[in-house]
Amino acid sequence: MTERKRRVRFAPSPTGPLHMGGVRTALYNYLYAKQAGGDFILRIEDTDSQRFVPGAEKYIIESLKWCGIYPDEGVDAEGNVIETPSERHPHAPYRQSQRKPIYRAYAEQLIENGYAYYAFDSAEELDAKRKEAEANKSTFTYNYITRMELKNSLTLPAEEVENLLKTTNNWTVRFKNPENRVVEMDDLIRGHIEINTNTLDDKVLWKAADQLPTYHLANIVDDHLMEITEVIRGEEWLPSLPLHYLLYEAFGWQESQPRFAHLSLLLKPDGKGKLSKRDGDRLGFPVFPLKWVNAEGEVSRGYREDGYYPEAFVNMLALLGWNPGTEQELFTLDELIEVFSLERVIKSGARFNPDKAKWFNQEYLRKQTNSQLAEQFSSILEEKGVTVESNEKGIRADFEGKNFSFGYVESLCGLIKERAHFVADFWDICSYFFIAPASYAEKDVKKFWNAETKAIIEKMYSHIEAMDHQMQVPQIEEYLTGYVKENEWKMGAVMNTLRLFFVGEAKGLGIADIVYLIGQKETLGRISAAIEALPVE
Ligand code: GLU
Repeated sequence: MTERKRRVRFAPSPTGPLHMGGVRTALYNYLYAKQAGGDFILRIEDTDSQRFVPGAEKYIIESLKWCGIYPDEGVDAEGNVIETPSERHPHAPYRQSQRKPIYRAYAEQLIENGYAYYAFDSAEELDAKRKEAEANKSTFTYNYITRMELKNSLTLPAEEVENLLKTTNNWTVRFKNPENRVVEMDDLIRGHIEINTNTLDDKVLWKAADQLPTYHLANIVDDHLMEITEVIRGEEWLPSLPLHYLLYEAFGWQESQPRFAHLSLLLKPDGKGKLSKRDGDRLGFPVFPLKWVNAEGEVSRGYREDGYYPEAFVNMLALLGWNPGTEQELFTLDELIEVFSLERVIKSGARFNPDKAKWFNQEYLRKQTNSQLAEQFSSILEEKGVTVESNEKGIRADFEGKNFSFGYVESLCGLIKERAHFVADFWDICSYFFIAPASYAEKDVKKFWNAETKAIIEKMYSHIEAMDHQMQVPQIEEYLTGYVKENEWKMGAVMNTLRLFFVGEAKGLGIADIVYLIGQKETLGRISAAIEALPVE
């Protein structure tokens, strides 16, 4: 048999925003496909109209695009689902609701060959059965035993079946599980699995009421028609695997049946249970790639809006459940494509660590050039009422007009990038580079400000006044610390007092860095403003 072209798919149901676990599934599929020069297909599984959520499909497409995961088929670069077949999208449409006419014949084929049957039980009748079972402390399943006592084409006379098919429309097609057979399955991550068919229920495959297939039928038919070679999906689908195996067999498609890989769940930070939106709300991190607002107006935060770089998010996700077998943690998407393998995907759940997620972002932030960071920071500065002259490369600061050169912001970004996880942290770290402090931290004033330091700071003032304008940071450093040493003052006390006056509290960047950037005039202005604002008894 010739090796088939590797073709995998991500098949989300548009029932809400895509959980980060779903993004990871898409990512692993994508990496696996690209590694072999194969195809990654995006198929929208929207046959369950009751769970359909408007906007969810668009959200999914936008999320993948933000992550840099572009499907080869099923969606174009603009994020539109392709509706008609073309050379690039031969299996269009890729939205199952638009493929509706395809599935019925497949359901009929199964019935003709004895692998499925019509079931006429009403919802109320089945509900009554469920209640009856509950009363006896058991659970009702439509299976190889109960089906012989229920209303279906296995129990009713042929004419009645004909008649019901013609005159009613709430019947379904159910899969007829073989009796007492061991289904042998192989999973690329979990290995060999066996299950006895007597434990399975006869799942509904097709519904006359809406003329739509259920997930199981549509999924198998489409994977077959779309020539999927591997199904990589979440472990919540593992219980469906025996049915899927049996369906491939019933259709006679075993030859081209895809191989399966079920990914373990993403776990809460404490490792106890599945990572949910509530954990994110409680512990302060997003579980969705993008922000989502539901019909009730409830907002869920997103990695994008929280200031994550998509590259950092993708890198972090890749390592949640997979490892390269080396110490390396930072990977570009292209590097991931190269080294990813299903063999190194772990069987157990992957515990999510919010601090690690931040660490990844910090690493990517550090990789940005100062100029890239300055650009990203500029939009935040605008919101704060600061204008940045984007074409001005030199260092210039106008505190009164709140107008600064791009070069100024660029140099500043170089100084602070080691201290932040996100560009959104920048303002809190360095707002004093744009506005003089309006007040001074009381505890620092108490600690550092007294008659003695006042006398020292006044001398420092004159010393700074006499400073040569051409000095760069190292010379300024030397100029200031040299003077403190010469006078045998306490270095820490002097520098912290200056910091208190420049920043508003005794913390922040190096004094020489501050003086260099804000400039001599602003430096002196801040010292005299503080002396005036803080009288010494
Ligand atoms: N529509 C299913 C989901 O929403 C797809 C499962 C599969 O990949 O087979 O997860």
